[in-house]
Amino acid sequence: MKIPFVDLKAQYENIKKEIDEAISGVILDSAFIGGKYLKSFEQNFQNYIGVKHCIGVGNGTDALFIALKSLGIGKGDEVITAANSFIATSEAVTMTGARVVFADCDKETYNIDVKKIEGVITGRTKAIIPVHLYGQPADMDGIMGVAKKHNLFVIEDAAQAHGAMYRGRRVGTLGDCACFSFFPGKNLGAYGDAGAVVTNNDELSLKIRMYANHGRVEKYNHEFEGVNSRLDGLQAAVLDVKLEHLEEWTERRIAIAKKYDEGLKGIAFTPSVMQDVRHVYHLYVIQVKKRDRIRELLSEKGISTGIHYPIPLPFLKAYDYLGHKPADFPVSYALKDDILSLPIYGDMSDKQVEYVIDQLWNAVKGL
Ligand SMILES: *Cc1c(COP(=O)(O)O)cnc(C)c1O
Repeated sequence: MKIPFVDLKAQYENIKKEIDEAISGVILDSAFIGGKYLKSFEQNFQNYIGVKHCIGVGNGTDALFIALKSLGIGKGDEVITAANSFIATSEAVTMTGARVVFADCDKETYNIDVKKIEGVITGRTKAIIPVHLYGQPADMDGIMGVAKKHNLFVIEDAAQAHGAMYRGRRVGTLGDCACFSFFPGKNLGAYGDAGAVVTNNDELSLKIRMYANHGRVEKYNHEFEGVNSRLDGLQAAVLDVKLEHLEEWTERRIAIAKKYDEGLKGIAFTPSVMQDVRHVYHLYVIQVKKRDRIRELLSEKGISTGIHYPIPLPFLKAYDYLGHKPADFPVSYALKDDILSLPIYGDMSDKQVEYVIDQLWNAVKGL
C-alpha cells in the first residue's frame, strides 16, 4: 500500500465542485487582489479564531515579519523563540534587523520551555515568539506571565495550529497577535503561498494592514514604506471553501492520532498532550531508536514519513554566527535523532492508519 505523507489530491477530489466554482468565481469577477473573496475569508477566519481582526498576507513568514515590524521591532532588539522550529520563525526576526535568541524545548511536549526563556532575557529583549509546534499549544499561561513581568510582546507562531485550543481559548487569541501560514500542506492550506496575522488590537491591526500593502490605506496615500505581501483573491476563495471543512478534518486528525497512540503503545514514544488543550496534530511525531533505519523500512513498504526538524535551528549553518554548542540546547539536540513524523491528514482512511501501525511494528520487531 502507498501512503503519502499528506494527500492534497485526495482532499481536492472530495471538495472538487466547491473549489472549482470558487476559483472560477474569482476569475469571472477579476477579484485577484483585494476584493470580496479576500474580505469574506478574512471575516470568516477571524470569526473562526474568535478575534477582532484578520489581515491576509502573502505567506506565514511574511506574517511573522510584518507583525514584528508593526510592533516596532528592529535593529538593536532581541526576540526569543524556540530552538526547534522551522527556520521561518527565526528568519522573520532577522529580517527586521533584530537578533534571534533561542530557548530550548520541553522534552515531553516539544514546545518552548518557559523555564529556559527567563534565562535568555536581556535589556534588549522585546518579544517572545512561542511556536505551537506540531499543532499543540505552547504553555501560554507561563509565557504570558514571563512576558508581563518583563514587558515583552508575544507573537504566537500558529502556522501549525489552526483550530488548536488552550484552556478553552483558541490559539491565535492569546498573545498580542498571532501568525498563521496557509502553505498547502498546513492544516488549512491554500493552493500556493498564503498567510494571515490575527489580533484583537485595533491600532496594531491597522499598522499590519498598511505595512503589508505599501504603507497605505488609500490608493496613493502612502504614510510609510511597507512591503507588498497580500493574500490574493484566488487563495482566499480556496481557503474560504476549505475553512468550512477544517473542523471535520481536524476531528479526523485527532481520531487518527488516537489510533496511533493506542496502536504504537510499547514500540514508540507517542505525543504527550498537555491537560486542557486541543492538539490539532499538524504533525504526529513519535520517538524511536534507530529512527533512520525504521524510516527506510517504512519507505520500502510505501510509507512516507518526515523529520521535523532534522537539525535544530541553532545548529544550522545559517546560525553558525551565534556560535552555539549542543550543550546549549540539550533537549532539542537529543531529540533530533529520534523524532519521526508519521503520515496524518484529514482524508486518511482507517485502513491506511492500520497499515502504518502494522508496518511500524514489523520494522521495530525486525531490527
Ligand atoms: C510553515 C511555517 C511557517 C512559515 O509559513 P510559510 O507560509 O511557509 O511562509 C512559520 N512557522 C512555522 C512553525 C511553520 O511551520
